[in-house]
Amino acid sequence: MRLFAILLLLPACLLGPVAGWAQSAEAAFRWPDGKRAAVSLSFDDARASQVDTGQAVLARLDARATFYVVPVHVEAKLAGWKRLVAAGHEIGNHSVRHPCTGNFEWSREAALEDYTLERMRQELLEGNRRLEQMLGVTPVTFAYPCGQTFVGRGRATQSYVPLVAELFLAGRGWLDETPNDPTFHDPAQVSGMSMDGKDFPEVKTLVENAREAGQWLVLAGHEIGHSGPQTTRIEMLERLVPFLQDPNNRIWFETVEAVARYLKRHRQE
Ligand SMILES: [Zn+2]
Repeated sequence: MRLFAILLLLPACLLGPVAGWAQSAEAAFRWPDGKRAAVSLSFDDARASQVDTGQAVLARLDARATFYVVPVHVEAKLAGWKRLVAAGHEIGNHSVRHPCTGNFEWSREAALEDYTLERMRQELLEGNRRLEQMLGVTPVTFAYPCGQTFVGRGRATQSYVPLVAELFLAGRGWLDETPNDPTFHDPAQVSGMSMDGKDFPEVKTLVENAREAGQWLVLAGHEIGHSGPQTTRIEMLERLVPFLQDPNNRIWFETVEAVARYLKRHRQE
């Protein structure tokens, strides 16, 4: 009988504080205007199709996105990029040379294994300077090329996350597997989940799961078109954006910068 009583008490003792903590954390954080989750759209590299095709698609859908751009590609289609800025899209930093692991042969000349933190610092500052000159905006968020966050190799490997934390409001990853918990996530390592090649039902499931958990889902893509590799489908965007904009779905649809600023204010309160 005594053992039975102890067993009955045990769950209450163990679960009580945990449940209480979860409730208070939830009570302390609210997405704006009764929203239940946040979703941001982001596109990387300043690919030509973002200007040639994506710009018109996003304008027609009245959607604003975050573009993580490489300056040399902005230069190649400067007038188009100026129009994207004028339309209210966010321009973020994506480095100058797009350094990734040298295991990608195209990245061998700018291999993270051969980088130092100082070289990365200079490159990120140069990226900001060039974008300021060309577009008149200063990037406040960053996306890690290839989602990789290291420089160097072996025992000399270092993380450049602290550098991104110093220079930017937020740093987005790539090919992550979970959205961001608004009260726990590290703004210097905002997860980015791929929307390339996905159809609307697949992305809708990601959005609904994020809403269920009250999270911030940052979707990331490359080309914008009907088909092809590393391509966010126009048909998917044409169904996703109205879904995100529908007030009944209670999604806060904003740029990475806007959501990151909101979360920063919340952390400071
Ligand atoms: Zn990239």
